[in-house]
Amino acid sequence: MEHSIISSIGYSSQSGKKSENNITNLDTTEEALSFQILSENDRTTKFRKQYYQTVSDLKWNDYKWQIANRISTLKELSTFLSLKDEELKAMDKETTHCPFAITPYYLSIIDLEDKESAIRKTMVPSINELIISEGECEDPLSEEESSPIPSIVHRYPDRVLFLTTAFCSCYCRYCTRSHMVDGHTQSLKEHWEDGFKYIREHKEIRDVIISGGDPLTLSDNEIDYLLSNIYSIEHVEMVRIGTKVPMVLPQRITDNLINIFRKYRPLYLSIHATHPDEITIESSIAINKIADSGVVMGSQTVLLKGVNDNEVIMRELMHKLLKVRIRPYYLYQCDPIIGSKHFRTSVERGKEIIHSLRGYTSGYAIPQYVIDAPKGGGKIPLLPSYYKDSDENNIYLYNYEGKEYAYPDKKRIT
Ligand code: SF4
Repeated sequence: MEHSIISSIGYSSQSGKKSENNITNLDTTEEALSFQILSENDRTTKFRKQYYQTVSDLKWNDYKWQIANRISTLKELSTFLSLKDEELKAMDKETTHCPFAITPYYLSIIDLEDKESAIRKTMVPSINELIISEGECEDPLSEEESSPIPSIVHRYPDRVLFLTTAFCSCYCRYCTRSHMVDGHTQSLKEHWEDGFKYIREHKEIRDVIISGGDPLTLSDNEIDYLLSNIYSIEHVEMVRIGTKVPMVLPQRITDNLINIFRKYRPLYLSIHATHPDEITIESSIAINKIADSGVVMGSQTVLLKGVNDNEVIMRELMHKLLKVRIRPYYLYQCDPIIGSKHFRTSVERGKEIIHSLRGYTSGYAIPQYVIDAPKGGGKIPLLPSYYKDSDENNIYLYNYEGKEYAYPDKKRIT
């Protein structure tokens, strides 16, 4: 395929450019302000007092205000953080491989005094991103090769990825689609129509994953339009939405959006969760509202060096997710996008972390550890080895404590 999935559908990807195009598309009804904060986490309260004292609760809790006031330049960021050398150098560059933007809310939950804070590492550009290592490339999953039309990635027979926007409210430094994200959202409808047509014509598609960018940055009307069109296709059995919004912009989960979710069944949300610090009072309220609406939620987490590659942190994250009714789903080995070496752990480390969960916490708290194989090979599960060997009568296995057990498994003699 020669086309770039995003550029050919009218997106631009100018790194670091403040992108407010989505805002003009957002609903301006009062429902958009219906995210009610019953309480606020302490870090955010302190942050608001220090930097946003004149901003009312109503504004702060309005997702449109959060998007319009994203921090997206070095100058703005340095008002809040004392930047490290490696961050300063990266922000000074004309372009890194991934754009930079963060909502005031998500910035507020970072420990600003801690230069090694986990969430900060995932958001603030670092000079390490400019180091290109062996095996890295722009599109490691070769999604463009599995893209019959710009808005669709069709890798597995019965399901498709529907790329609906290139916009995110915050940009993760390790994003697999960093070469696509950021930019404009105008003229999307005609590309969506192509997507609907493709799905309609391919009767083998039973599962549609609405992705991007972050689809929950689209307006209520657009989300409703997308869902109603996809659900009207007879052979589509389920729809999933991939999003990080509940963690980075919980204010977006308004009553109106919840009412839209209620109209569609079965609807799944795959929520991108990185670190336990993301589960705040605000995100918990938002996520519980989603759960109450009948949407089924699973999590997707990328294993990141110095961020969550730690047994205690990973267990805490999985426990916190379960408490807000998100079932841990995937733990991804970090994709080898350009400039990602500083984020990538060894696969062995990932297996050790999974080993530290199995047997030591509820099975529900254990995500499936996978590598999304380069060149479009799909997800390949990775497990610590519990198998020892076998003979004619038994297989011999290790349990979570390393003790050996035999299970009767007589081999068939022909
Ligand atoms: S929210 Fe998702 S699509 Fe957006 S930058 Fe992060 S990983 Fe990429």
